Amino acid sequence: MKLKFIAASLVAVGVASIAIAQGPYELPKLPYDYKALEPSIDAQTMEIHYSKHHQGYVTNLNKAIAGTKLESLTLEQLLFTATKRPDAVRNNAGGHYNHSLFWNILTPQRNTQTSDALRREIEKQFGSMDSLKKAMNVAAASRFGSGWAWLVWTSDARLIVTSTANQDNPLMDVFANKLDRGIPILGIDVWEHAYYLKYQNKRGDYLSAIWDVINWEAVSANFEAAKTNPMLKMIGLNAWAELADFHGVMGQTFHPAEENDLAPIRARSGELLLKAKALQAGKIPAQFNNDAVKASIDRLVEGAEALHKLNTKKTKDAVLKEKLTALHDVFHEIQGLCIH
Ligand code: MN
Repeated sequence: MKLKFIAASLVAVGVASIAIAQGPYELPKLPYDYKALEPSIDAQTMEIHYSKHHQGYVTNLNKAIAGTKLESLTLEQLLFTATKRPDAVRNNAGGHYNHSLFWNILTPQRNTQTSDALRREIEKQFGSMDSLKKAMNVAAASRFGSGWAWLVWTSDARLIVTSTANQDNPLMDVFANKLDRGIPILGIDVWEHAYYLKYQNKRGDYLSAIWDVINWEAVSANFEAAKTNPMLKMIGLNAWAELADFHGVMGQTFHPAEENDLAPIRARSGELLLKAKALQAGKIPAQFNNDAVKASIDRLVEGAEALHKLNTKKTKDAVLKEKLTALHDVFHEIQGLCIH
């Protein structure tokens, strides 16, 4: 019996690894020839960059997630919690996403135009297209070592310029200021592999030349798509400090309670109430500020007050657990109202 079971498992593993070898991620088709972006980007650089470097990220990403639960996540979900993933996942998922975006925002067509909406937003945030280019070039030139410069639509509806190291990107949980996170709509690769064959150490010359081949129609389309990207709400929720604080204490008290360990909530019901009150007193981020969310926060405070009162009266575990479970439901109701 046991042997049979092992043999069956090996067959299952064999079948699975054949499927996994193909991987869930594929190199996207390059929308132009290798030589199409000359003289800004030379054909040899394009060929190596696309067929070796990008292919490498795809292959290594598939390898890194093969047979793990990460296989069931989307690429954006992998990026969203990148710092909690193994380096091989963070680097290769980033590499795949970043280069897929990069090929898309380049074009052999000269003088593509921004949409009116994007032009207005650029003028509002940067004053002019020239100032935006200057800000991007400063970000790109001052990125030490390998990395990217980005134009990003943030969760609080701003267009900002930022840069990240290695293959990190603005979707990732890598920013000290969580409001700097957002959806990248334009990215410039400043790894040496992106320019060294033609420009050697002259990163600035590469940065001047690349603007000739930026596809502003694609960037405009990215801008429109970013506004309704569901990840933007996740990023906004994550940046809401008072909600994240409450969530922290809730997680550390509710999950033990689920396993019938009531000690954490016994010790921290007062703290949980303070966090709920801080959430109520704090500023609700504009995109979530509506009557339904406000009403739920009020109910959260009422629930936390009742829970704390019961705890000080040394109520039975079962009753306390029931109240905490109800409070946990209200918390998720707030999250749900924000995301949907
Ligand atoms: Mn690259």
